[in-house]
Amino acid sequence: MPNCAFYNCFHSRRYKDVSLFQIPVPRSSDSEFTSQRKQEARKGWIGAILHTIQLDADLKKQIENNSIYICEIHFKDEYIERFAKRKSLETGSIPTENLPKKSLDNIGASSNADTSRKEPAERHVTEQVVYSSLANLDSYLKKAGGYPYFSGWGWHRVSNTTVIEFKESGFLIAKFSVLVDNSLKYTVLVYGWALPDDHCIYTLDGRSMQYCSIKTLCGKII
Ligand SMILES: [Zn+2]
Repeated sequence: MPNCAFYNCFHSRRYKDVSLFQIPVPRSSDSEFTSQRKQEARKGWIGAILHTIQLDADLKKQIENNSIYICEIHFKDEYIERFAKRKSLETGSIPTENLPKKSLDNIGASSNADTSRKEPAERHVTEQVVYSSLANLDSYLKKAGGYPYFSGWGWHRVSNTTVIEFKESGFLIAKFSVLVDNSLKYTVLVYGWALPDDHCIYTLDGRSMQYCSIKTLCGKII
């Protein structure tokens, strides 16, 4: 009997009033638009789930087999269509409601107990321009492959964004990703799920790669 994939959510098929929806699966019969929406929603689902629980072999298998379900309480009401005997979820919907609290929010804070004490000094030191532009950052990244701290990381450019990723072997989804835009503002994702804007990882350097070296950022994340 399928259960809601969210940690601590007890809804299953036994609860007749609460529907479970299956993870979006793009089909060959879908239009390109639909297929893309499903693909994006699928990433959103996986990111939301992995934000709260670790990806182990079982979960990986469930994802591969599309046997992942999320119950309706995690979706905005307007995305749920109600029919006489069943409910369906609007294509492209991702879970945003009643999300469980999670341990991964503490990344960068809990791993190093004295981070807060070091913060003022570090800010002072790092407020000099490290990278002047995205192209400058990319040219640095081209060399970074040989540096020990960059082991396990990779990077690529997607239009106006440079994506720096840390993947564990055997996993399709990056454990950590850093998206750097044209203005050198960066966003950190954990299993495809963006950390909130007020996360402590953004506080040291004005959230800009202009003032933060790759080495510092990788060190902060891992
Ligand atoms: Zn649920």
